[in-house]
Amino acid sequence: MTERIFRIAIDGPSGAGKSTIAKAVAKRLGIDYIDTGAMYRAIGLKMLSEGLAMEESDALSDMLARTEIDFDRGNVFLDGKIVNDLIRTPEVSKAASDCSALGSVRSKLVELQRKMGHSKSVIMDGRDIGTNVLKDAEYKYFLTATAEERALRRHKEMLEKGQESDLAQVLAQIVERDHNDSTRALNPLRKAEEAEEIDSTHMTIDQVVDYICDKVQ
Ligand code: C5P
Repeated sequence: MTERIFRIAIDGPSGAGKSTIAKAVAKRLGIDYIDTGAMYRAIGLKMLSEGLAMEESDALSDMLARTEIDFDRGNVFLDGKIVNDLIRTPEVSKAASDCSALGSVRSKLVELQRKMGHSKSVIMDGRDIGTNVLKDAEYKYFLTATAEERALRRHKEMLEKGQESDLAQVLAQIVERDHNDSTRALNPLRKAEEAEEIDSTHMTIDQVVDYICDKVQ
């Protein structure tokens, strides 16, 4: 019997819990998890470390051509180096959001993402997975929560890691990123018509994971 191949797309705004949930679903179903936000973050990190500005399109194309991004056993690799923590700073979050509006960056990453989601079962999370990257995914979800709840979750996460955090500032950054992500011209954050919306404001992580796994199994 041939194995059933299926793709799960999870889109939604920053801090809705997409990656935590996608990781847990992947583990439970024994499929690969692809964190597309980490890929934009890796490009943002490389732009910052090479001092590249958004307007330098030639230098940017050159940089993209010599950039490799990969995932292995929960690690994110940028040009062969693990960058799991380096890509989670507020500076890199902003750089990722900024560079994700560039056509050259999106076409490089979308091509890579489609390759990664080809011929095997995967769960992929991001902003444009259901509407663009995996338009034909068998399962599509749009995960939301109020901006206040998302800010509070991120704030607690930073404090738990021993990092400084100011709740009002975190909320302002989330609102700014929501605005950037949903108003950009190229593949803005949008719910695919056929995607099911899950509002996680009053749900636990386990409840959302159970809900998705029940639907898929
Ligand atoms: O999901 P995460 O917050 O890690 O994503 C970082 C940034 O990458 C987002 O703010 C968004 O601008 C961009 N992104 C995107 N398309 C995706 C995933 C992320 O534009 N599929």
